Amino acid sequence: MQILDGKIVSQSVKEKIKEKTILFKSNGNKTPHLAAILVGTNGASETYVASKVKNCEEVGFKSSLIRFDENIEEAALIEAIEKLNRDEDVDGILVQLPLPKQINEEKIINLINPDKDVDGFHPMSIGKMVQGLPTFIPATPYGIILMLEHYKIETSGKHAVVIGRSNIVGRPISILLSRNAYPGNCTVTVCHSRTKNLKEICLQADIIVAALGIPEFLKADMVKENAVVVDVGITRVVDATKKSGFAIKGDVDFASVAPKCSYITPVPGGVGLMTIAALLMNTFTAAELKIKH
Ligand code: NAD
Repeated sequence: MQILDGKIVSQSVKEKIKEKTILFKSNGNKTPHLAAILVGTNGASETYVASKVKNCEEVGFKSSLIRFDENIEEAALIEAIEKLNRDEDVDGILVQLPLPKQINEEKIINLINPDKDVDGFHPMSIGKMVQGLPTFIPATPYGIILMLEHYKIETSGKHAVVIGRSNIVGRPISILLSRNAYPGNCTVTVCHSRTKNLKEICLQADIIVAALGIPEFLKADMVKENAVVVDVGITRVVDATKKSGFAIKGDVDFASVAPKCSYITPVPGGVGLMTIAALLMNTFTAAELKIKH
């Protein structure tokens, strides 16, 4: 069994971005700039955004964090996005999800200029991805692809089972794994909350991507020998032994599943770190695209 190490791979991706950024700037271009919008004070969202901003600095990007109160009205948020859309200095815009109830998430995402849609959630980005056209790929699925690529994992003709069908993880990774490319060319089964015989389906999988958000859901008796297991889940569970008071759990029961796998991602230290690296990659692409336009 080999660990798919998000720390090593994300570091290597970030080193590449750092080098590209130095070259980009030395050619007279401006510093790539990511603007992040954070609404409210949700603990997990705060952590994610802080990490994104810190990682921007690491690779030589500029970043702006725009914070709004939990009670912000939709119109004010719309205005903020439109301002960022117009701002020539801003290459990438990300709106940290989830947003409070009074805000229509779909409406907000659809407002982001597709040329700055570094989260890859805009229908234009998703549509292009489905058609296999160059576009921004949502960061988590993109991070998984970069991870499989780094370890040169054979995917062609393999049966990949994706558990979860969300627009940000399950659905896009299922599309990417089925495309005629590397990594890809898998036969993909998408499972979800209404799937029957999930265990039997998982037992046929050469590759399993678990993205359902139920801690330690995937057990050893659901995984065949030598499967590749990618654990996307991130759930905070109460843990009095931790200073923070919580522990991070993946969707895979790592202790029992890992010994059966050929490759497996840990949580933390797996897909989460790749997600940030992929976001940086998208931001660099956005900056590059702008000079080509
Ligand atoms: P979501 O809640 O939007 O979707 C969950 C999906 O799982 C749904 O499609 C649902 O049908 C399916 N599901 C629920 N219960 C199921 C069951 N018993 N059997 C089969 N399928 C079931 O979640 P999401 O936004 O896709 O996130 C999934 C997990 O990934 C969460 O833990 C989230 O925190 C994590 N996540 C991690 C990263 C990262 O960077 N590592 C990024 C995004 C999300």
